[in-house]
Amino acid sequence: MIPAHGFAANGPRSALGPMRFERRNPGPQDVAIEILYCGVCHSDLHQVRNDWGNTIYPCVPGHEIVGRIVRVGEEVTKFHQGDRVGVGALVDSCRECDACRQGLEQYCEGPIGPLFTYNGPATPNGHNTFGGYSNIIVVPQRFVLQIPATLDPARAAPILCAGVTTYSALRHWKVGRGHKVGVVGLGGLGHMAVMIAKALGAWVHVFTTSPKKRGAAAALGADGFIISTDNNAMAAQALTFDFILSTIPVKHDVNPYMACLRRDGVLTLVGALEQLEPGIDNGSVAMHRQSFAGSLIGGLPETQEVLEFCATEGIQPEIELIRLDQVNEAFERMKAGEVRFRHVIDMGR
Ligand code: ZN
Ligand code: ZN
Repeated sequence: MIPAHGFAANGPRSALGPMRFERRNPGPQDVAIEILYCGVCHSDLHQVRNDWGNTIYPCVPGHEIVGRIVRVGEEVTKFHQGDRVGVGALVDSCRECDACRQGLEQYCEGPIGPLFTYNGPATPNGHNTFGGYSNIIVVPQRFVLQIPATLDPARAAPILCAGVTTYSALRHWKVGRGHKVGVVGLGGLGHMAVMIAKALGAWVHVFTTSPKKRGAAAALGADGFIISTDNNAMAAQALTFDFILSTIPVKHDVNPYMACLRRDGVLTLVGALEQLEPGIDNGSVAMHRQSFAGSLIGGLPETQEVLEFCATEGIQPEIELIRLDQVNEAFERMKAGEVRFRHVIDMGR
């Protein structure tokens, strides 16, 4: 076993604190990665607080991991010691089902589904999966990404969840040149969505409740800025959007955004993974054959693709570096919408 240390929560209301644990020795197909940086995602906070009712404690979150390979198993062919690599929200899957064969491991239909980087079911070493708020992780090579050399390693971290989550949805619904695209919420996911949708050629508008984010939206390349609580401003957008991506991490009323879709337009939720309240008014949606959809992170091939895409397009997430022991404070700032736009833990600080 490999001794490891990280920050863990012991219950839904406890702050995160230091914990020692062990990682498995790398198997033939595994690599051991010294963690250099880890992004702080809103899902980390949801999981720690048991918002989805499935948290196993202790919980070590973190699924935007960038590090350096320190050991490779004897059958590893893709990577070498010293390589700069990334790990996103997935560390394994059944590898055999239809979804896995298509590189859509996030939608694995196998007996346990995708194995998430943290809070996954118990592994043979007795505890559930522990994530990137730690110094080392052991992952099968299939679930490890190459970090392009031109990307700053700290700024690459948020691409591994926030980047691929938004990219995957924008690509699946074929967003491109000439499309009017809305991004709801301008946080970690939203700011990536704006940059990626712009690079895909779309005409991008930000929906937000905070007027003070106008300058930031423009700096990221947004063409339009709509205050979602302003009924007149919302009414002016009725039936005009080809695609809207909602990145709000908690349940919210999607009906005002559905009303902004043109005929055959699609609204996709990537933030809130829960029952919506209020429900969708199909009396209105059916009138213009609009669609409502969900989408979850991205598979391994698409995560590699978005890393290359960001490198080619010069897209780098906006981050604030923190120390591991500042993560509780980072959660508070994230909840208050104060971070621009992603905290990244620097494990070396
Ligand atoms: Zn995430
Ligand atoms: Zn599978």
